[in-house]
Amino acid sequence: EARVIPRDQHPISRKDISRAALNVLYGLHKAGFEAYLVGGCLRDLLCGRQPKDFDVVTDATPDEVHRLFKRSRIIGRRFQIVHVRFGREVIEVSTFRAFQRDDLDDDQHLAHEETGLVLRDNAWGSIEEDALRRDFTVNALYYNIADFALYDFVQSRRDIERGVLRLIGDPEQRYREDPVRMLRAARFAAKLGFEPDRATAEPIPRLAELLLQVPPARLFDEVLKLFLSGHARASYNELRDLGLFPFLFPETDRCLRGDQGDMWDDLILAAMDNTDARLAEDKPVTPAFIFAVLLWPVVVARLDKHRADGVPPAPALHKAASWALDQQIRHTAVPRRFSTVMREMWDLQQRLPRRGGKRADTLLQHPRFRAAYDFLLLREQAGELRAGLGAWWTRYQQVDESERYAMTQALG
Ligand code: ATP
Ligand code: MG
Repeated sequence: EARVIPRDQHPISRKDISRAALNVLYGLHKAGFEAYLVGGCLRDLLCGRQPKDFDVVTDATPDEVHRLFKRSRIIGRRFQIVHVRFGREVIEVSTFRAFQRDDLDDDQHLAHEETGLVLRDNAWGSIEEDALRRDFTVNALYYNIADFALYDFVQSRRDIERGVLRLIGDPEQRYREDPVRMLRAARFAAKLGFEPDRATAEPIPRLAELLLQVPPARLFDEVLKLFLSGHARASYNELRDLGLFPFLFPETDRCLRGDQGDMWDDLILAAMDNTDARLAEDKPVTPAFIFAVLLWPVVVARLDKHRADGVPPAPALHKAASWALDQQIRHTAVPRRFSTVMREMWDLQQRLPRRGGKRADTLLQHPRFRAAYDFLLLREQAGELRAGLGAWWTRYQQVDESERYAMTQALG
């Protein structure tokens, strides 16, 4: 049963909640519905972090929510939710959902829907049921706009305060229902520094291969959350410790277990640190860069093979790149707009050493020069390449035209 934590016994204040979220909460409340904040935002606030976004749950149906807010739209099919827009902010509003054995996310149901097996059967529930179908206790706390109290069904507050990641219900069953929860365990452990409790951690290495059944598009989204949220190094380490990495990047994992495994590990960690540092400075990051680095060991292994077979460098690289991408997209999607950039970054690795004549200036003008140069520096840092070329390019970018000319002349 719920433990109600009244306003004077918890620190969550309306000042911490975004304007948009408050509008939605009060809009629902005034129309006579229940309205709560739920999940990640409360967890983050109790940890003293700025929430990424605010999620709302209510007993109003999606149609009722949609009618209440002008700038809203219903999304999803089987489990509909409503996106309500206020300025630039979008608040996700979901209706209390009952726990079901086949409680899967919407995209996993699309297949059923397309074959006509499952038509829409939104199964609404009570707030208690809604709490029990969530993943971790730390993600199942509710804040009621009617009395400003917290509603705690599964010792959420205790676990947040202790920094414990605990799956609600039987962990093995919950992972089987939705294997992505294993990735979420890794992500929250990395991001929050929370420790999975024994029962939550224990089944993961054993069940990791269930990730092979998850649609690649969904895994791509999860990989982005793991590697592009400022905790890439910690996430990568968690994925490897929990035995999840081999089922996301099987070919990369094979390289990591090979002769040059430590070097590739250094390269990947250097890229993760680089990404984390860029995000800490509010600089832009692209999935293409992380994926280009993660698949580079695979490309190199394949490239070496084609070269040994006598294929010239450029076509060998082209074939190796295609192969690495073809293997990867069976596991995580790699949208075309990113794979195009990855190929360009890889191509440039082959071209950056050849700087004579006008080549250096042409390379410098290339739209991917900067990404390729950053990548080159990481490769030198990891010891894949002898240092030197990176420093040359660093200097080339800094000096004036006459000095540049002298530099390319000096190459001989
Ligand atoms: P983040 O800070 O990454 O946004 P979050 O906890 O808000 O963390 P979301 O992916 O935004 O995570 O999901 C919102 C909420 O929905 C979660 O807090 C959790 O209660 C629930 N949830 C999300 N994914 C699952 C899942 N696979 N199984 C069960 N519950 C889930
Ligand atoms: Mg969220």
